[in-house]
Amino acid sequence: MKPSTFGYSRPESLEEALTTLDSLGTDGKVLAGGQSLLPIMSMRLAAPQHLVDINRLAELAYVRVADGQVRVGALARHAAVLRDPDAAAAQPLLGQGLQMVAHATIRNRGTTVGSIVHADPSGEMTAVLALLGGTVRVATAAGEREVAAEDFFLGPMESAVAPGELAVEASFPVLDPAAGTAFVEVARRHGDYAVCGVAAHVQLGPDGAISSARAAYLSVSATPVVLDLSEACGADGSGDVAGFVGDNLDPDPDIHATADYRRQLAVVLTRRALAQAHKAARERNAA
Ligand SMILES: Cc1cc2nc3c(=O)[nH]c(=O)nc-3n(C[C@H](O)[C@H](O)[C@H](O)COP(=O)(O)OP(=O)(O)OC[C@H]3O[C@@H](n4cnc5c(N)ncnc54)[C@H](O)[C@@H]3O)c2cc1C
Repeated sequence: MKPSTFGYSRPESLEEALTTLDSLGTDGKVLAGGQSLLPIMSMRLAAPQHLVDINRLAELAYVRVADGQVRVGALARHAAVLRDPDAAAAQPLLGQGLQMVAHATIRNRGTTVGSIVHADPSGEMTAVLALLGGTVRVATAAGEREVAAEDFFLGPMESAVAPGELAVEASFPVLDPAAGTAFVEVARRHGDYAVCGVAAHVQLGPDGAISSARAAYLSVSATPVVLDLSEACGADGSGDVAGFVGDNLDPDPDIHATADYRRQLAVVLTRRALAQAHKAARERNAA
């Protein structure tokens, strides 16, 4: 299949991109890595009037650690974020999630910010941003605003980025030295979208006991769900979270899995993710 006819601009600077998007209004659509947008256009599930290709905005192809945040620019490819040693050391959950995103060829082209804006409920980076309480910086020709993760995901494939806006950066808080993270998922084939996935974060207190445990879920709901499991898992991590997770998740069925199967999978993956995150927290805390 081929896309419908569309107009095309390739700005050379952020300023030009924002002016172009502003002039196009609801007719404009940002093209980043194209790994989600072009297949959707080819299947005629979307028919934007005009694409604004941001691939020449080299100024947005950065990954840096500054002010307690890992900052990822709009043109940083998944592969570049995954390879970045400073980002890996500062926030291990980024790499743990990214290595589950698709295949190498797609990670070489697809952008981490694009993946978050695309807001696929099965996208690993949506759960990572939600669990860590990250933010997205969104710009227009008139100015900028910062959107918190909890306000960013509005529905399946729907984020807070409005027509005329460009998401310029996603920020992920640096991991505390007494905390650990893990990301586990089940996919039918390696590189496929997950049937269910769980990102976990465990924080230890000064006494070495668990002071907080949280998990975020993908492929379960229209938007990423974050559960506070601190009480259910207990100070030493030995509590069984099954009942709490089962009661608080209401998974959607689809052609890949029934709701019951997904709920059971979420329980099993939560136990695994929490155990791994707890182990990582103890190791980091001891180092
Ligand atoms: C076969 C296949 C398997 C995949 N498997 C997975 C997977 O397992 N997990 C996963 O998470 N993803 C997966 N993906 C998607 C991949 O991660 C994409 O790269 C990502 O979802 C979108 O990033 P992109 O840069 O390609 O965005 P694009 O496809 O260019 O854009 C996607 C959407 O986001 C908008 N957009 C992009 N960037 C911006 C911006 N800076 N500002 C405003 N709007 C923007 C576009 O307008 C469009 O609506 C897969 C893709 C393919 C083709």
